[in-house]
Amino acid sequence: MNAPDPTDGPGHAPDAHHRRLASSTRAVALGRPPRDPGAPVNVPVTFTSTFVADGPVDYARVSNPTWEALEEVLGSLEGGRALTFASGLAAISAVVSLVPVGGVVVAPRHAYSGTTAQLAERAAAGLLTVRTVQAEDTTGIVEACDGADLLLLESPTNPMMELTDVRGVLRGLGQRYGDARPVVACDNTFATPVAQQPLGWGADVVMHSATKYLAGHSDTLLGALVTAPGRADLAERLHTHRSLHGAVPGPMEAWLVLRGVRTLHVRLERASATAELLVNRLLDHPVVEAVRYPGFGAMVSIEVAGGPEAAERVAAATRLWTHSTSLGGVESQIERRRRHPLEVDSVPESLLRLSVGVEDPEDLWADLEQALEAAPG
Ligand SMILES: *Cc1c(COP(=O)(O)O)cnc(C)c1O
Repeated sequence: MNAPDPTDGPGHAPDAHHRRLASSTRAVALGRPPRDPGAPVNVPVTFTSTFVADGPVDYARVSNPTWEALEEVLGSLEGGRALTFASGLAAISAVVSLVPVGGVVVAPRHAYSGTTAQLAERAAAGLLTVRTVQAEDTTGIVEACDGADLLLLESPTNPMMELTDVRGVLRGLGQRYGDARPVVACDNTFATPVAQQPLGWGADVVMHSATKYLAGHSDTLLGALVTAPGRADLAERLHTHRSLHGAVPGPMEAWLVLRGVRTLHVRLERASATAELLVNRLLDHPVVEAVRYPGFGAMVSIEVAGGPEAAERVAAATRLWTHSTSLGGVESQIERRRRHPLEVDSVPESLLRLSVGVEDPEDLWADLEQALEAAPG
């Protein structure tokens, strides 16, 4: 993979030394104050709405030093220029706002339910047209992009865990449409930059619900976009959008995510190893009818025998796993996705989404096993 130079472009560590460091090291080392004697090792939470005149930034809707520290780290991990937002959906909304009125957006059928709902809302208002594609269908995605303005990708998809060959799609788009291809934006929330960096494959923008793995502790909402080094035009438009529409993160939230990102790699390593162990046991479990696991990461979806009621009984019977929505925290979570009215109706009624945390693997298995006993009722 040919990742772009992570220290390229504005807002990044100018220190050439950092170019050679591994992703896990950069997650720890970047976004720090200069090493002056007596300086703090962490950036402060900068609570201010305005700045003394004649500096680089005059008002805190435009930028904030705590966001900038986080943006330096996220930009480096994804290989581009990062912008933080109030939430993942605020970041996605900024990307969708790039589409001109009457434009066309191509999106996977099983993208995150909030993303599909946001697109449906804009389509209902007559602002854009949505073409729905199957995440694994590389040829179908490329064909659907004829005359499109924006291609949204999400791999793995939430909660169906389908994979898109992002590299293959980008190659196909280049061959078929050349420079006339749509803007390609990839939701990297499930995979995280530890598993894949779509900008290195030629995507234009990476989107994140930093609420999930990047923050990692179920304690804050935050979103991020990272634009490719060659797309300063998009970075500029998205920055303007953020300043004018105001979906900005609080400085405390940015600080919490920065704190969370320091341990992203170790949390994921642990959680992914546990997920693999649980998947192997779930595959042999009599009430589990299907296991959806892409082979990496710590998200697993299962379908249990007995329909939605059985699935709800399992979620309710857990004692260690938290029965709650959301994902990517240190604590393991379980939820039947179709309990949400916004969830796409081709997601199976009995699908339980598991977000594997960092607890002891045997404790997690024991709790899951006793909860699965509740399935038959
Ligand atoms: C949660 C999620 C979002 C939305 O992020 P928020 O921070 O909740 O606004 C977007 N995409 C994916 C894949 C998600 O899981």
